[in-house]
Amino acid sequence: MIAEVVAIGDELLHGALLDTNSKYVAGRLEQVGAVVHRFTVVGDEPGALEAVLAEACARADVVVTTGGLGPTLDDRTRDVAAQLCGGPLVFDEASWNGILEWFARHLRKVPDSNRRQAMLPPGGAALPNAVGTAPGFRVRIGRAELFAVPGVPSEMRVMLQEHVLPALAARPDCTPTVQRWLRVLGPSEAALGERIESFMVPGRDPAVGVTASGGLLTVRIVATAADRAAAEAKCDATAAELRPLLGDWLFAEGERELPELVCERFAAAGRTLAFAESCTGGLLAARLTDVAGASAVLRGGVVAYANEAKQDLLGVDPALLERHGAVSEPVVAAMAEGARRRFGADVAVATSGIAGPAGGTPDKPVGTVCFAVADAAGTRAWTSRIAALGRAFVRDRAVFEVWRALLGWPDGV
Ligand code: ATP
Ligand code: MG
Repeated sequence: MIAEVVAIGDELLHGALLDTNSKYVAGRLEQVGAVVHRFTVVGDEPGALEAVLAEACARADVVVTTGGLGPTLDDRTRDVAAQLCGGPLVFDEASWNGILEWFARHLRKVPDSNRRQAMLPPGGAALPNAVGTAPGFRVRIGRAELFAVPGVPSEMRVMLQEHVLPALAARPDCTPTVQRWLRVLGPSEAALGERIESFMVPGRDPAVGVTASGGLLTVRIVATAADRAAAEAKCDATAAELRPLLGDWLFAEGERELPELVCERFAAAGRTLAFAESCTGGLLAARLTDVAGASAVLRGGVVAYANEAKQDLLGVDPALLERHGAVSEPVVAAMAEGARRRFGADVAVATSGIAGPAGGTPDKPVGTVCFAVADAAGTRAWTSRIAALGRAFVRDRAVFEVWRALLGWPDGV
């Protein structure tokens, strides 16, 4: 089943608001077996919108639009859909009652302009909005079934979940899709691509692809089959073939974020964590505290950027800094031990490196990052030469390297 997503709204075209709805819709559609072939972002101008919808509805089996359902005159999705259906908008009593109820619940007077939101294109059916006023609708246009949902992300998500996904899952041409993610750190994208080249041929089933983000490579396996169990079995078979090829590069599996996995692992072991960050500048603590429930694991962290901060806050011996420099294994080891002591944590991690673009030397080029993990059994420090692809890359790559170390802890560290 081929799908397209159309994000509607002038604000999306002015560089001020990023279209995150399409990404979300595509991810959810894929889970029920509708594969998105194209995203379009279009403004509120009716001529442009009509052309985009007509084309999408000629190409795809399913089109999901977000936005342009509000009560104001610049919200044109209904009008344009009606035009494509070849008739005027039809007033829908049930939708109107829903809108009246919403306003009654919120003790507000109903503006007249909201009547527009109770209008449907001919032949369309309303999709009730459980969390806002604007109902969505579904209607057949050309070869496609078009689902129009609100632009407000929270309303969009609820309507998708309650109305769009069930309608798609019930279609006979809908085949369940299953994904498996293998997380890889170490090789360049090209080197990984060569290693698993034979899997990455177009048209392979399950499909295998690689996405890169800050040095973290994700091998995605995507299978479709008549039912979920069969799709899962196909994914598992491909994952089993890939694992030996990936070897040590592979360090985690699944679609969940790495800090979430770290939190879960430490919480299950009843262990706490602290950070002493120099070149990562607080990123480790920030990413870990993105996870709900991080408080059970994280005792705290310090950003010790200057040498004085490393001495004063973490008790690093000035002689070590003098002798080895701030980017050195003895210094990160002392930083990790200091953080472990000061925070009373079971495990502490320290980073110190040269993110660039300046500051590199022949023996410590840009991208050199020293890491240390300290726990009750001792301290291990190591050095990585990260490709000097910019400050953000070096820092992100360093953060991923810490998650890998912690996911391997205590065996791998
Ligand atoms: P409303 O009833 O609020 O007018 P609507 O369906 O007309 O709903 P829009 O006016 O297009 O929706 O968008 C409302 C808000 O939702 C926008 O200001 C923006 O914050 C958010 N939004 C809209 N489209 C997107 C999108 N594609 N990605 C992310 N956010 C979006
Ligand atoms: Mg609007």
